[in-house]
Amino acid sequence: MSQKRYSGDPKRLYDFMTSFVVVCPKCDLDGEITVPYFLDYKNAIFTCGHCYHSEKAKDRLRYKSTAKANCNQCQASLKIEVADRKSIPNYITVICPECTSANKVKENWESYILKYNNSGTIDPAFGLPLWYQAPIKDEVIWAYNLYHLHEIRDYVSSRLRERTTDRYKMTMVEKLPDFIKMAKNRDEILKAIERMKIK
Ligand SMILES: [Zn+2]
Ligand SMILES: [Zn+2]
Repeated sequence: MSQKRYSGDPKRLYDFMTSFVVVCPKCDLDGEITVPYFLDYKNAIFTCGHCYHSEKAKDRLRYKSTAKANCNQCQASLKIEVADRKSIPNYITVICPECTSANKVKENWESYILKYNNSGTIDPAFGLPLWYQAPIKDEVIWAYNLYHLHEIRDYVSSRLRERTTDRYKMTMVEKLPDFIKMAKNRDEILKAIERMKIK
């Protein structure tokens, strides 16, 4: 076991968030999502080196509106819950539940990326399951990409860790869940990381 001190440059989680290795939606092997810069998920691109499936988050852009409006005849409140539009319509026609008159409503539309999944251990752009994830007891250890996985491994495997200083506060490794940091889980976590790398 390495005795080296973990002392990589302090990295925040967002330093790892421009590349996500995920399960390809077509072939179930590993593909990669690249994001031009942190949080620019609308410009994310997925590519699979196995089946050559590729897609752009832009093509999955949808529009929704959950704005409130009132009937222009009777003032009853109109419920507008429209989602999954591929473009913003000039207006939508909403029939009043009280007086049945048709209202043309222009409302605020908001764009979003239609995700594959909305929960689970997924990437933030397409909502695809992360490739690097493994159960440990009742927890899940996961990484966005190999670089991230190696950073966690180096941290877990180093027996001498930098004490928490301001330099390390708020970094990715400091914010790792406790079960990853606990010394008694070290061997199990390192084995899980090795398994993730060769699957
Ligand atoms: Zn594929
Ligand atoms: Zn009405």
